[in-house]
Amino acid sequence: MQLTPLIAGNWKMNTTIEEACALVSEMLPELKSIKGVEIVICPPFISLPAVNNLLSGTPLYAGAQNMYHQEKGAFTGEISPVMLKGICQYVILGHSERRNLFNEDEEMIQKKVDKALETGLQPILCIGETLSEREQKKAESTITRQIETAFENVDNPGEVVIAYEPVWAIGTGVAATVNDVNQMITIIRSVLSNIYNQEISREVRILYGGSVNSQNFGNYISQHGINGALVGGASLKPDEFINISRLAEQSLS
Ligand code: PEP
Repeated sequence: MQLTPLIAGNWKMNTTIEEACALVSEMLPELKSIKGVEIVICPPFISLPAVNNLLSGTPLYAGAQNMYHQEKGAFTGEISPVMLKGICQYVILGHSERRNLFNEDEEMIQKKVDKALETGLQPILCIGETLSEREQKKAESTITRQIETAFENVDNPGEVVIAYEPVWAIGTGVAATVNDVNQMITIIRSVLSNIYNQEISREVRILYGGSVNSQNFGNYISQHGINGALVGGASLKPDEFINISRLAEQSLS
């Protein structure tokens, strides 16, 4: 079964509302002509309503970069899934910057995954090992634990997109080799297969993320098990993001 490739742009803490709208408007004519690929744009929260308006009526989706796991209440500064519902389809959860800079632990990420699904939002769940975990040969145990915890209560795993993002490859310009990514994705599918079954493990889309650009992405998307990319820096460069999305389209032919 061929899964629909997904290209998600994580703009992180970049762009004002005006800049976000200008960037979307610049890329949109090209992006909306791309067939057979799901393209998701994840601007900062404050720009989500405007970006979602620009994307409505096109095949593209808006995504949030994070959310809290409660619907409302005394959680100063947080954004609830109920607030996101209607202004985006996807939500990035467990990004390594959230885990490392904002101390999000695996239990919190599990609650967020559960709440996103309950609310009808599709999580893009980020997992990945740090450089020291890789050097200590703990990459496999790290991602196994991350998946087992995040999926503990998930009955519909096909709704979740996994982004395998080795922490050492994010924003560094040092992308993981295709071999490394293939090996890790094999492990991810086997963990899913143990939790669910082999058929279900093949229905979950797995993206690669970490210094993806239009020069290296062709090597990843040509691999059977890699279903797209979570793109950080290059998603803010219109030509780069369009070319990455086109490579995903070309991989279908
Ligand atoms: C990311 O933010 O998820 C990411 C992969 O960033 P970059 O593409 O810049 O490495």
